[in-house]
Amino acid sequence: DELFARAASQGTTPVSFEMFPPKGELTLERAREVGSRFAELSPGFVSVTYSAGGSTNNAATTQIASMLTRELGITSCAHQTCISLHREDLPAKIAELRAAGIENVLALRGDVPADAPTGPGCADYRYAMDIIPALVEAGFCVGAAAYPEGHIECDDLDRSIAHLKLKQDCGASFLVTQLFFDNELFYRFRERAERAGITAPITAGIMPFMGKQQISRMVFMCGASLPSPVIKLLARYEDDAESLRAAGIEYACRQLEDLAAHDVDGLHVYTMNRADVASAAMSALRQDSANR
Ligand code: FAD
Repeated sequence: DELFARAASQGTTPVSFEMFPPKGELTLERAREVGSRFAELSPGFVSVTYSAGGSTNNAATTQIASMLTRELGITSCAHQTCISLHREDLPAKIAELRAAGIENVLALRGDVPADAPTGPGCADYRYAMDIIPALVEAGFCVGAAAYPEGHIECDDLDRSIAHLKLKQDCGASFLVTQLFFDNELFYRFRERAERAGITAPITAGIMPFMGKQQISRMVFMCGASLPSPVIKLLARYEDDAESLRAAGIEYACRQLEDLAAHDVDGLHVYTMNRADVASAAMSALRQDSANR
């Protein structure tokens, strides 16, 4: 609740950012630079992704989340995936997060690596819900991922929502959504989730499109729909990368404003480590709330 309390007490929609430690390229130094720019924008929290495929750089998630909080005073949230995690390694992982002063964890399954063996018994943990109780027990405030259009492996939205409810039942106390480009789909999902007994705050995740390749990779990975206004923008700026990026940020800002006007519990900006994206989002929201 603390993740949302400050903004709520100021009467504004809580805004958070996602940062990712990509394989090797985001050094702690670079993360500190990006984090310092984020700190100037006073986000509710900054979440730091974790590489599910067993990247060698996973200690970076803990280090960066810890640095954000201890050095920059930002509330951080470390992502933790479980698909490649061995049961005997979870206590050490929990100890690592605690020793680093991390209080918030987003519990995830992670995307199943292409070369992973499949079938029952092949992974110690099959679903995000499998690690949530141990994290809650260890004293973390635990969040989970939500899918406004249903998870890509689950073709029934109500079943996807039932799985989300299981994560809440296991102790997840806040939810962050997958990116989406059509707010109407989010509003419909929110209603259905509420009917299914989801009471945890749902933070809407928004990613500006930056290029045709980036958007098609994301859409194929997570199954988000591309509404016709986005397709038209992609077509209009096909040969003009700079204008396309500007249009992507502009489109995301309009989405954020509309979500804030519809009393969303929180807004999460997939910044792709770009301070200009975070800053554009914040300015749009501040301007919008001043106009209202
Ligand atoms: P789960 O909740 O375990 O769901 C996985 C699938 O299993 C779904 O289809 C679900 O419907 C189904 N399911 C769940 N529980 C049950 C059950 N009990 N019985 C039957 N079926 C069930 N990936 C990373 O690798 N690193 C990250 O840092 C990262 N951060 C993310 C942040 C957000 C906000 C989001 C939305 C996604 C993130 N992802 C990340 C991607 C995520 O790992 C994938 O979407 C993954 O495919 C599913 O993760 P999950 O935690 O939602 O899985």
